[in-house]
Amino acid sequence: MDSAELAPFHDQVTAALVQVSRTVGQLASEDLGFHRTSSADFTESLDDQSDRILTLTTALLKAATAGTEVAAPTLDTEDSIEDNWRGVVDVIDSLLEKADACLDEFTGVIKKLSPSQEEQAPVVRKTSRFPTTFDYGPSKIPKPQLLFDRKPDNSDLGPFHPLLKTKPHASIPLEKSLKQRQIDGATAYPHPYETEIRNAQYPKPVYKTSPAIDYLSFEGTTATFVDTLEGVKEMLEELKQAKEIAIDLEHHDVHSYHGLVSLMQISTRNKDWVVDTLKPWREELQILNEVFADPKILKVLHGSTMDIIWLQRDLGLYVVGMFDTFHAASALGYPKRSLKYLLKKFVDFEADKRYQMADWRVRPLPSGMFDYARSDTHYLLFIYDSLRNALIAASTPEESLIDYVQERSKNEALQRYERPVYDAEKGQGAGGWYDLLSRNPGGALSKEQFAVFKAIHQWRDEVARAEDEGWQCVFPKHMLFKLAQVMPLDMGTLLRTLSPMTPLTKSRASDLLATIKEAHAAGATGPEWRDIAPPPKGLRTALAVDMEDVDFPIAERYETSQFWGDILQVQEPSAPASYSAVASLEALRLSLPLPPMPTTVSQAREKLVVSANAQPTPAPQAAPEPAPVPEEPKYFTVKDLGAPRKRKVAAVATPDEELSTPDSLAGPSDEPELTEKQRKKLRKEKKKTQKAAQAASQSEADSTPFDYNTADSILNVASTAAPSVQQRKKPFNPYAKALEAPSGARKQKRNDAGKSLTFRK
Ligand code: AMP
Ligand code: MN
Ligand code: ZN
Repeated sequence: MDSAELAPFHDQVTAALVQVSRTVGQLASEDLGFHRTSSADFTESLDDQSDRILTLTTALLKAATAGTEVAAPTLDTEDSIEDNWRGVVDVIDSLLEKADACLDEFTGVIKKLSPSQEEQAPVVRKTSRFPTTFDYGPSKIPKPQLLFDRKPDNSDLGPFHPLLKTKPHASIPLEKSLKQRQIDGATAYPHPYETEIRNAQYPKPVYKTSPAIDYLSFEGTTATFVDTLEGVKEMLEELKQAKEIAIDLEHHDVHSYHGLVSLMQISTRNKDWVVDTLKPWREELQILNEVFADPKILKVLHGSTMDIIWLQRDLGLYVVGMFDTFHAASALGYPKRSLKYLLKKFVDFEADKRYQMADWRVRPLPSGMFDYARSDTHYLLFIYDSLRNALIAASTPEESLIDYVQERSKNEALQRYERPVYDAEKGQGAGGWYDLLSRNPGGALSKEQFAVFKAIHQWRDEVARAEDEGWQCVFPKHMLFKLAQVMPLDMGTLLRTLSPMTPLTKSRASDLLATIKEAHAAGATGPEWRDIAPPPKGLRTALAVDMEDVDFPIAERYETSQFWGDILQVQEPSAPASYSAVASLEALRLSLPLPPMPTTVSQAREKLVVSANAQPTPAPQAAPEPAPVPEEPKYFTVKDLGAPRKRKVAAVATPDEELSTPDSLAGPSDEPELTEKQRKKLRKEKKKTQKAAQAASQSEADSTPFDYNTADSILNVASTAAPSVQQRKKPFNPYAKALEAPSGARKQKRNDAGKSLTFRK
C-alpha cells in the first residue's frame, strides 16, 4: 500500500472499528440475559444473531491464520468463546505482532508530501517497500554531535553533572546547588534550581482577567533563524523586555543514543525565533537562563515534560516560572489537551503535524520545516491568554485553577535528568528487557530463548552506545523477539532471520552470532522467564489506568487512545436502555455485510416498550477537577491494555464448574442422555433463571414488586433509576474479558530519563 493511501484506509478502519466497539459497548452494558426473560421473540433473535456472529468470528479467525502456524479455534457456542479464549487471544496476538512489525518498519513515516514539499524534505528515503521510511542505515546528514564542544560519551554512567556554569536569579548559590547527595538511593546532583522553582510565584497579571492579546499574522511577523552566538545575545536582550515568552523544542533521536535537541523555538508577542541548537557552542545557550530562570518572565510551554529534560541535558537550561498549557487544558476539563486541539479551538489554526517526526538536524532548514517549527510557539501566548481567562473564570474562592497549573508546571520543571544505565542483570528501566518482556507474550520463552533475549537486548544497547545511534538503527524491537524465538546458531539462519539487516548489524554479524550461541548454551541452566515475570496486575493497569500509579512517565500516553478515541471510556447510555439494547442489535445486524436473515429483531423491538420521552442521561459534567495526565503522550497500543499472561490454575472446581457436571444438569438419571450442546444450553438457561430470580428478589428487597407488565421501567432501569453508588463507581466494563487476556498489551517506548520518547521502541 502506498503511504498516501494509508491515512484514508486508517480512517476507514478506525471508523468501522469505533462503530463496532460502540455497539459492543452498548450491548455489553445491557443485561441481555435479563431481557431474554421478557420476550421470547427477543430471545430468539438474540440466539440467531449469536449463532451468526459466532460463525462469522470463526471464519475470520480461520482467515486470519490461514497459512500460519497459529491454530484458530472453532467457536460454535457462546461457551466455546470462554473455553477457547486463549486461542482467540493467540490469533489476535499474532495479528498484532504482524502489525507491530510493519509499524516498526514504518516508524518515522511522514505523510506523503506534496511534490514541492517533497523536495524540501531530505528526511525521507525512497525504498522499494516503504516509500517514506526513515533511513536507519548510515545517515546522509553528518553527525552534528561529532563537532560539539562536548562530544557525547555514552559509556559515561556516572551521575549526570548539570551543565550549569553560572546561576542567574539564584537564591541558593551555584556551588551549593551542585553538591552531590543521596537521591532516591543513589548518589546524584540535585536539581540546581530546585529551591528557586519551589519558591517562585506567578507574576500578579497571571491571576487577572484581561482581553487576550491578538497574535500578529504569521506572515507579518519577523521570524529569525538564530545560528550565531551574537544572534543569541541579541535575542536575549529582546526577551528580557518581555513579560511572557513561549518556548518549544524539536528533537532528533534516530541517529543519536541519548538524543539531540535540534531546534529551540521562542516567541514573544511580536517576534519568532528559531534557534539552531546543534552548533558546537550549544552549551553557551545557557546564558538564556537570565530569562528562563527569571520568575518575573512567564515561560509558556505546551506539554513540557520532555522539553524540561532535554533543555537541562543538552543546553544547561532550567525554567523558573513556567505555565504549561497542557495542564491548563487539563484543569479546564477539555476533551483534548493537545496543542493541535488548542490551536484549533482558540486560533482556528489547523496544525500540520507532518513534520513532527522529521529529521530536525537538516541544515539549511527547509522553509516548510522552519514555518512548522515557528507555528508551535507563534500562537502560544494568545492561547495562554485565553486559557488564563478561562481558568480564572472557572476558579472558586477556595480553589484557584491558576494555582493548580502553577503546581503542575512546577512539578514538570523540577524533573531531573539522569543518564540511563543499562541493567543487564535485572533488566530494569524503561526499555530494559524486563519492561519489554512484561508487556509482551514472553511467557512461552524457554530458558534458552529467555537467555538469548537478554543477551541480544544487551548487545543491541552496546552497539547503539558505541556508534551513538538509536537502538532502532541496530535492529528493530520486533527482531529481538524473532531472534529469541528462532535462536539462530549458524550464520545462514541468522542472516535469514535478521533480513533485512541494518548495516550496523551486518558488520557485526559474527559477533552477534557468538553472543547468541553463548547465551543459548548458558541458558540451559538459567531461569525461565515465567519464574520472574510479574504477577498479573488485573484491571488496575488496564483500562482504568490510575495515572498517578504507573511506573513510567505518563507523558508518553495519549490521554485517549489514538486508535479507540474515547470510546473505551465507559459512557452513559445515549438512549434509554430498552431502546439501545435493541437498536444496537439492529445496528449490528445492519453493519454486518451479510445476506439478510429471517431476523425477528424488528419485531422484538416493536414489542418492547420504548419510552420515547425518556431523556438520555446527561453526560456527567466535565469535572473542573483537573486530571493529572500530562501531554502529548505519544503512542498507545492496544496491547498496553492487557494484563500479563494468566496461568491456568489446575482443576479446582468452581461453583460454576460444579454446576456443569452432567449430573447436576442432567437431573434424574432416567432422563435421556444430553448432548454437550444441550447441556450447555441447559446450563445457560439455569444461569439465566438464577439471574432473573436474583434481579426479582433484588427489586423485592427494594420493596417494589416486580411486574413484567411494566417492562419499560425495568428495561430503562439503567438510565432512569439512579444507579447505586457501587454501580456509579465501578461502571460495567465491557472489555473486562479482554483485559484478562493471557497476553498483555505491549508498551515499549524507551523513556530513559533523557532519550526522547522516541515512541519507536
Ligand atoms: P513537539 O512538542 O510536538 O514539537 O514535539 C517535540 C519533539 O518530540 C519532536 O521534534 C519529536 O522529536 C518528538 N515527537 C513529538 N511527537 C512525536 C510523535 N508522535 N512521535 C515521535 N516523536 C514525537
Ligand atoms: Mn513541544
Ligand atoms: Zn514543536
